[in-house]
Amino acid sequence: MKALVLHGDYDIRVEDRPVPSPGPSDVVVAVIATGICGSDFHGYSGENGRRHPGQIMGHETVGRIQSVGSAVTGLDAGQLVTINPMMVCGSCDVCLAGRGQWCGRRVVLGVTPEPPAAFADLVAVPATNIVVLPESMPAELGALVEPMAVGYHAVRRGGIAADDRVLVIGGGPIGQACLMAARREGVTAVAVSDISPSRRALCARLGANVIDPIESDLATATAEALGGPATLVVDAVGISRTLEDAFAASGLGARIVLVGMGAPRVELPAYAVSTEERTLVGSFTYTAEEFAATAAWVGTVPEGIEALIDGRVGWDGAPKSFDDLARGRTSASKILVFPQGPPATEAGS
Ligand SMILES: [Zn+2]
Ligand SMILES: [Zn+2]
Repeated sequence: MKALVLHGDYDIRVEDRPVPSPGPSDVVVAVIATGICGSDFHGYSGENGRRHPGQIMGHETVGRIQSVGSAVTGLDAGQLVTINPMMVCGSCDVCLAGRGQWCGRRVVLGVTPEPPAAFADLVAVPATNIVVLPESMPAELGALVEPMAVGYHAVRRGGIAADDRVLVIGGGPIGQACLMAARREGVTAVAVSDISPSRRALCARLGANVIDPIESDLATATAEALGGPATLVVDAVGISRTLEDAFAASGLGARIVLVGMGAPRVELPAYAVSTEERTLVGSFTYTAEEFAATAAWVGTVPEGIEALIDGRVGWDGAPKSFDDLARGRTSASKILVFPQGPPATEAGS
């Protein structure tokens, strides 16, 4: 089978690899499409140190079941599925409490060097990581379930309520997912701040008030757009500057969710936490329950969601897409790699 293999910094190649050898509890999925995540192309460039030479990445995927192991029940060949990439032990205290994202034996498909992940014709995973999707949805949207689940978990970590005034800092794929999740939770006052005009245009299309933080003072613009300072901020960038903005644009007692991983260390305005009683919470991935709920929600084809996919390539275009994303040479937000080639209607685009 063909797979996309990371060789080193700025070096990724399409190569022949052995087909996966699944165990009795595994399912083999024939990949339809896999999304390129920011963590993938920052791993490709070596910037984040979170990917490894020899690795087959890919954790945002959709496909059809090709075969099921002898011990697998309730799943059949041909079903449209996505994969929850969080492979957890399932038996420790946090797993039993439904918080698999804290499992000490956690392996994240496409992030850890092994097992080989979804930038491949075929991928094998435990049956417990398979989530079935409705046939009625456009198949490619299944690749958005994973990033959408990240956004859903982030707003829930912030204790989101319908009457919140929500500011999302950063309008990339995770910021877009937070915006969609806020709207899914019934929030009407949502603003997204991003320096990129194309990302602002996309977020505006998804129903957000959009703010250019270079042109305008973010705190003032947020209060104007939302009718007051933000009560909940999601920082989908995660550097000192954006956290500073999160505190400045939010009111006393606000909750600030740090989901972006832009820098390993940040500086905080300490008194904006202590004397003004803001709460800073971290967010990473999602629970299995949130992933399944998000898959069901994506299956309803929420309005505007198709706009989140703005690039489609086959194997031949995949290395260049990684390079363009890593070097900031494209305004595309989410590019999907289709092992069988992109859908015919998109050919040449
Ligand atoms: Zn990702
Ligand atoms: Zn566990």
